[in-house]
Amino acid sequence: MCQILIIYTGGTIGMMSDPKTKVLRPINFEQIMDNVPELERLNCRIKVHSFDEVIDSSNMNPAIWSKLAGLIQDNYDDVDGFVILHGSDTMAFSASALSFMLENLGKPVIFTGSQLPISAIRTDAKENLMTAIEIAKAKKNGVARVPEVCIYFDYKLFRGNRSFKYNSSKFEAFRSPNYPILAESGVHLRFSINDIRHPKEDGLIIHKKLTSEVAVLKLYPGISPKVVENILTADVGGVVMETFGAGNTSTDQWFIDLLKQAIDSGKVIVDISQCKVGTVELGRYETSKLLKDIGVANGYDMTFEAAITKTMYLLGNYDDPKLVKEYLETDLRGELTVS
Ligand code: ASP
Repeated sequence: MCQILIIYTGGTIGMMSDPKTKVLRPINFEQIMDNVPELERLNCRIKVHSFDEVIDSSNMNPAIWSKLAGLIQDNYDDVDGFVILHGSDTMAFSASALSFMLENLGKPVIFTGSQLPISAIRTDAKENLMTAIEIAKAKKNGVARVPEVCIYFDYKLFRGNRSFKYNSSKFEAFRSPNYPILAESGVHLRFSINDIRHPKEDGLIIHKKLTSEVAVLKLYPGISPKVVENILTADVGGVVMETFGAGNTSTDQWFIDLLKQAIDSGKVIVDISQCKVGTVELGRYETSKLLKDIGVANGYDMTFEAAITKTMYLLGNYDDPKLVKEYLETDLRGELTVS
């Protein structure tokens, strides 16, 4: 019989409205189970690990990601797959982080949650939970159908490091415009087999170390030298720079000089676009040619969530900025398409 580990971290799926204040607060896993008697009917043994203190995912952090990676490592040989119940607000960050922390992953790690609490009459939680379990246990010829870190939400399975929270009020909370969905559930559960990644080598390798010393420089017309300088001289090893269109920035000399000084001082700067669809093409326009020349890393079509967690992972594991830049530009876990 198959075996699945559900890790319950918190989120709306397990919240209840306080009768007096009407504020949504986390409940414990037994109360969740009471709302889904169907779990008993699954032909599967469900193990549950509930966090002692369940959280709203706005309180998520790298220490908890390490804890999640450790739980996956400890239970890896005993189960067929993992389902992580998590708030949707930062789910794409957690799924992206875990994808980098779990190298050669050979089993499904499916994040899910919901927009309405599991106790609500119109809840989306039950379908999300039941299908996430179905996906976590799905195998073909003894091999997991989706050995990836994914997000399952509103009938769609997304690669975790390609997705972002797009809507805070619809059940369709996530999108992944730069990569096809990995499965869709309707009357049948259909897997897009050609888009699913399988590990090239056997043997899970866990990387628990991430660094939080990463800054973000989001550009806008009129950004001042002082603001840019403050960000680029912060005590961090890397900067995720959100640029215009296909990776373009101002060509003002002061701006290019500040970037160059930061790179020369050992910082890594990665260029991703503020556009949600499409890719960075360094050198296509005059306004990105200089970036390439001074050594800004090309983030291609990475989401913000993937870029920030990948930088945290790389800086936590490699000291050489040249190597960090090279890996930032390399497809490590299906997070980018080199164009
Ligand atoms: N604030 C909640 C959280 O991210 C929202 C949700 O679960 O969808 O924990």
